[in-house]
Amino acid sequence: MDELKNKLKEVFGYDKFRGNQEAIIKNILAGKNTFVIMPTGAGKSMCYQLPAILQEGTAIVISPLIALMKNQVDQMNAFGVNARFLNSTLSKSEINKIKRTTLEGEVKLLYVAPESLTKEENVDFLKQANISFAAIDEAHCISEWGHDFRPEYRRIKDIIKQVGQLPIIALTATATPKVQLDIQRNLQMEGADIFKSSFNRDNLYYEVRPKKTVKKQLIKFLREQAGKSGIIYCLSRKKVEEIANFLQVNGIKAAPYHAGFEAAVRMKNQDDFLNEEVDVIVATIAFGMGIDKPDVRFVIHYDVPKSLEGYYQETGRAGRDGLEGNCIMFYSYSDILKLEKFNKDKSVTERDNALILLEEMSSYAESAMCRRKQLLHYFGEEYSDDECKKQGKCDNCRFPREEYEGKEFVKIAIEAAKQTQERFGMSHLVSVIRGSQNQYVKSYSHDELPIYGAGKDKDEPFWKSVVRQTLLNEFLIKDIENVGVLKVTEKGHGFLENPFSVQLTKNHDFSDTDSDEDESNEHPSASGGKSHDPVLFDLLKAERKKIAKEKNLPPYVIVQDPSLEEMATTFPTTTEALSNINGIGMGKVQKFGGSFLKLIQKYVEDNDIDIEDVVVIKSSGSKSKNKIYIIQQIDRKIDLEEVADEKGWTMSQLLDEIEMICYSGTRLNLDYYLEQFLDEERQEDIIDYFLTAESDDIDDALEEFEDEDYSEEDLRLMRIKFLSEHAN
Ligand code: ADP
Ligand code: ZN
Repeated sequence: MDELKNKLKEVFGYDKFRGNQEAIIKNILAGKNTFVIMPTGAGKSMCYQLPAILQEGTAIVISPLIALMKNQVDQMNAFGVNARFLNSTLSKSEINKIKRTTLEGEVKLLYVAPESLTKEENVDFLKQANISFAAIDEAHCISEWGHDFRPEYRRIKDIIKQVGQLPIIALTATATPKVQLDIQRNLQMEGADIFKSSFNRDNLYYEVRPKKTVKKQLIKFLREQAGKSGIIYCLSRKKVEEIANFLQVNGIKAAPYHAGFEAAVRMKNQDDFLNEEVDVIVATIAFGMGIDKPDVRFVIHYDVPKSLEGYYQETGRAGRDGLEGNCIMFYSYSDILKLEKFNKDKSVTERDNALILLEEMSSYAESAMCRRKQLLHYFGEEYSDDECKKQGKCDNCRFPREEYEGKEFVKIAIEAAKQTQERFGMSHLVSVIRGSQNQYVKSYSHDELPIYGAGKDKDEPFWKSVVRQTLLNEFLIKDIENVGVLKVTEKGHGFLENPFSVQLTKNHDFSDTDSDEDESNEHPSASGGKSHDPVLFDLLKAERKKIAKEKNLPPYVIVQDPSLEEMATTFPTTTEALSNINGIGMGKVQKFGGSFLKLIQKYVEDNDIDIEDVVVIKSSGSKSKNKIYIIQQIDRKIDLEEVADEKGWTMSQLLDEIEMICYSGTRLNLDYYLEQFLDEERQEDIIDYFLTAESDDIDDALEEFEDEDYSEEDLRLMRIKFLSEHAN
């Protein structure tokens, strides 16, 4: 019996088996069908690698990802094991060589993509070869209830049958009871021995936050995690790029990753992440498969994922080394609705399936029950939340919500399932309980049941939450055959006879969240100008007045109010921080910055303000491209009409842009353009006016120059010249 261990040591250098590995390997060696469900990183591959080495002939390994295949084969070869792969990346002669050596009995492991497996010439070849068994990796791809359905996986069994009477080992890192059944049925291995490890990852912390001011929350969180590695998942490529750019602008070492980038870019960003050149990868779900970075310290879901199964898989990439791993999801119900809309072009069944997965997602997010308990329940695992509660390893356990006595409510929920013959799902049960008048309820005459309307004084979310908790407490159970249907368990029947106290919690309220962050009305570079410190603001204003007097300039030329507000929000105490304030370029920092800085430093000190705590976010500014373009054109002395034409703007639109640039502190020299239509004298007149004016309001200026024939554009141009020369 120690032969196994010796081989493990000899080939792989490991001293002992992990978890179920040994039992699984023995099962395969005995020629039995085997089903392995093990979380990522637990060591699934070993379960087929070692038996393949020990047995005569070649084991075939069916695996969906060509990229991973090469990796695995390289690893095996490094251990001195003869492994090869067959997929579409190989040349004809390479394929022939692999086939030849396989037929000669040299190859121990042959990895095959499902597409290649179905090719006739390959089937013929496999028939001739001496195949020991077939391993089907990522077996959840068989089920449309999994998170990564691949139709070609459904043909695997047929092909294997043609090859011969082979034992099958199916492996996956995620399988709900439903998916598990699908896999077994499809592979015709209902009688297989199942080896299921616990999915609990007790080092991971789960949290769901309302999707509000996400960017601000992100920056705050990422600053606390400075230097640590993490992944941020977004649903769209566009969002990935936006967030990566936003993080970069805010000084975080981040890189984007999605399937739309060229392979070279993807490879570089992935390598940079692995080599810790970048801390944060912002990615679609395309990222992470086969990434084996052990010290990913956080996984953030910026958008709500499409299924709990996918969610769990993605969060699983955190803390593989067993140390800290923070999993944070930003949730908003409108994200769920958005995802539903994406499905509208799918077939009815597909749409219904997707909908059920989304409902699971939203009830998970909104529930105040232990996250871990819910996740594990989803994978068919019973978990008492004592440990999570003790250690505060999920938000709901760390900050428990008030509980209420749920005995009567649970009774109603179970009764509703029972009286409707255990043939309906959550929504229908809630309709019956609440006494809804809908067609569906009537058509089944459920409005005549004793339980009908028993809970009409509570709203729908309340009852949904009760039914869900009744399910999580195992009084009800999901019917595997009929998706969505809830049946009463033994425990549930017992409860109806002998009810006892059950503590329930109220759901979280996410009703005021929104998937599209409304940050448009915020000052572009401030965390929201509303929350400035009024005392500091007044001090800054007084300082501005003083400087203006000294320099003999109107106060607005020094800095404008929004910039002062921003200073009173973000407390810049260094020249660099000050130059980051919108409306203050380096020129201004040098001209007027010193006294503001001194004032703010003193204020921060006197009032014990912790500037580390102040979260400032800068928007990534889609405008910056225009900015660079305009500055270049002006440097090259291009006529402004031409610039406007080129961009398809009116002159006024161009001036809007130029003013923005100017107000953000950049000096622009428009003399080459102004000279063409305003002589020196007239220019001086206007400059003199701005030097003494109360404000730089254009209407005031137009009024002042009523008698001259200056256009609004002339005055705006002169104002830009004036501000560039005196303010910036
Ligand atoms: P999975 O496929 O389940 O995600 P892998 O098969 O990639 O996991 O294994 C994860 C890691 O654990 C690999 O680095 C593998 O070499 C290692 N490993 C597997 N079995 C053992 C063992 N018995 N002892 C030590 N390390 C092991
Ligand atoms: Zn918990």
